[in-house]
Amino acid sequence: MKPIIAITMGDAAGIGPEVIVKALSHPDVYEMCRPVVIGDAGTLKRAAAVTGRSEMEIHPVAGVAEALFQQGIIDCINLNLLPDTVPFGQLSAAAGNAAFHYIAKAVELAKAGEVLAICTAPLNKEALHKGGHLYPGHTEILAKLTETEDFSMMLSTGRLKVIHLTTHVGLIKAVEMITPERTYNVLKLADQVLRTAGNEHPRIALCGINPHAGENGLFGNGEEEEKLLPAVEKARAEGMEVYGPAPADTLFYRAMRGDFDIVVACYHDQGHTPIKVLGIEAGVNITVGLKGGIIRTSVDHGTAFDIAGKGIADEQSMLAALRSAVELAPQQAV
Ligand SMILES: [Zn+2]
Repeated sequence: MKPIIAITMGDAAGIGPEVIVKALSHPDVYEMCRPVVIGDAGTLKRAAAVTGRSEMEIHPVAGVAEALFQQGIIDCINLNLLPDTVPFGQLSAAAGNAAFHYIAKAVELAKAGEVLAICTAPLNKEALHKGGHLYPGHTEILAKLTETEDFSMMLSTGRLKVIHLTTHVGLIKAVEMITPERTYNVLKLADQVLRTAGNEHPRIALCGINPHAGENGLFGNGEEEEKLLPAVEKARAEGMEVYGPAPADTLFYRAMRGDFDIVVACYHDQGHTPIKVLGIEAGVNITVGLKGGIIRTSVDHGTAFDIAGKGIADEQSMLAALRSAVELAPQQAV
């Protein structure tokens, strides 16, 4: 069976509804999955009009069971939280609050096993806060709603997957935060996410922290031996295939050549830079390790208030996020 993917509508004043409608007008989406939008049907209808896709029918449903999953019809679990006239490009507490509730509903459905992955359209952090939900962003909302403490950010392009030990902290703090426990947990997350997606023997490569992975003590203070190696040994003892810690520059080269299925990066720039070099719009941001095995993929752009309502927002990132959601969704018996 094709996986059911929940798409959260994001902030109604932004481009989320437009990129969703545009993405769902591609027939190949329905060949790979069964998408259902969680949002407001009226807002989607308006998005269909401004993107010149009025022929697409917006089909409000109460739950997944009522969805039709047919090309040309967009099934929408209609939370009906907003008027159809939310001004484009304007901060609104109502839209911020609604964006939160779309996510909460998606988590509820994922927990119940009714959807296999969540793909999120952008929300506006300021609107979210105005709406009374004081989270830094999507990831923290999802972590809270699933009671998850140990998760990781993964970036994926068609050819390269990278998962991070640390992300949005300063470099000195990042090195401090890397411990054998954190390293082991992320190795395990990398192994699990690929196994769940059907790879029976994931090949994982771990980058060193220092240049040349420390070059036997020449660079750094033995951080590889102290923080990384114990985790690698533990993971290997459990049967995981882990290569490294090894120099990051050559690891990425080898990963692109096909030697590894995923690379574990120690800090933000180490992992993000090779992905961005492959195409700034190509990378999909994925939250891995949410409790219940919930996979969340995201577009890599924001609400773009400046072009909302013009129908010109590009849907490629949403399509890529949907593809990743399908790729990483738990494999189901047919
Ligand atoms: Zn970043």
